[in-house]
Amino acid sequence: MSTAGVAELVIPQHLLPQDGRFGSGPSKVPAAAQRALAETRLLGTSHRQEPVRDLVRRIRRGVAELLALPSGYEVALGNGGATLFWDLASLCLIRERSQHLVFGEFSSKFASAVRAAPFLLEPELVPAEPGSHPEPRASSQVDAYCLTQNETSTGVAMAIRRPSPDPEQLVLVDATSAAGGLAAAPEQFDAYYFAPQKCFAAEGGLWVAALSPAAIARAQQLEGSGRWVPASLSLTLALENSRLDQTYNTPAIATLILLLHQIEAVLSSGGLAWAEQRSRRSSEIVYDWAEQRPWAQPFVSDPAMRSPVVATIDLDPSVPAARVSAVLRANGVIDTDSYRKLGRNQLRLGLFPAVDPEDAGQLTHAIDWVVGELTK
Ligand SMILES: *Cc1c(COP(=O)(O)O)cnc(C)c1O
Repeated sequence: MSTAGVAELVIPQHLLPQDGRFGSGPSKVPAAAQRALAETRLLGTSHRQEPVRDLVRRIRRGVAELLALPSGYEVALGNGGATLFWDLASLCLIRERSQHLVFGEFSSKFASAVRAAPFLLEPELVPAEPGSHPEPRASSQVDAYCLTQNETSTGVAMAIRRPSPDPEQLVLVDATSAAGGLAAAPEQFDAYYFAPQKCFAAEGGLWVAALSPAAIARAQQLEGSGRWVPASLSLTLALENSRLDQTYNTPAIATLILLLHQIEAVLSSGGLAWAEQRSRRSSEIVYDWAEQRPWAQPFVSDPAMRSPVVATIDLDPSVPAARVSAVLRANGVIDTDSYRKLGRNQLRLGLFPAVDPEDAGQLTHAIDWVVGELTK
């Protein structure tokens, strides 16, 4: 093992990616989006006036177009990110009991939020070991199934399918790191929610949800039933404001601008299929590379469960991943660290559609060089 200090290891320029941001959220914001933000005249202007409402309108229409939402589905948005949406869903979408597929940090956090809600029954948990995903189980005991399309903490993705045809059983999908990079058919979900700092290459702080007529009806019914729902957590209030192309309270306009930039970039490049293809190309480069190295392997053993947007790569114990990440960071290739609570000797790489597949290739060259130096 080399004793060279992190700062002494200078990765040759020709092995480096053009853009070294590989975070899994917040994630790379493309240079063109940053320029749009620098040039806009909307920062510091009222979100109740037409110019900002026009942004919100284009975001709502753009999300509906990207997801090919059928008529009757609506796009709502509000402040607080995906974490707030879990609390909102506990109040406005789950009637009594929900089922949760639990296979990593984010899916378990929603389950914990629901378990703590005094007005709900103990949720059904369907767990799987990190690195895989469970399958939902049709259950007559639940009124909502809670799925996570891409478990960002472990790099596991799953297809979204309604576990039961019963229209009284809603399907709520945490698509925070999937929406904008992985396809999902609207017939298969009732609430498809996300925050924009992952595939949508924007800042955090916002939640966006595509809602089916059944989800909207559920919120109206629960909020009208006497359950106490604070205004900031009310889905019907958020929807009323969204219909006016506003948010209930003041949004970060920079986040809206960056989100719209990515939506329009994807729409003008070929839509969701194009975005997914781009991430698939990046992640195939990374998974193929890891399989060819004796000191690396994809953490997710079943190729069908491997996420196209967040690749997790285990390293041999002789190659400390934390040191590899530290050297990469010192050379401007950042946020390749594994999810802190997973506790594995691992690299986790955000390969969202904003990442250039060529940069994914360069990243593997840079890692090869660092590992070669560290194991000299
Ligand atoms: C990042 C993430 C969240 C949390 O998003 P916030 O906007 O920080 O609340 C929730 N779920 C998934 C799957 C995520 O990747």
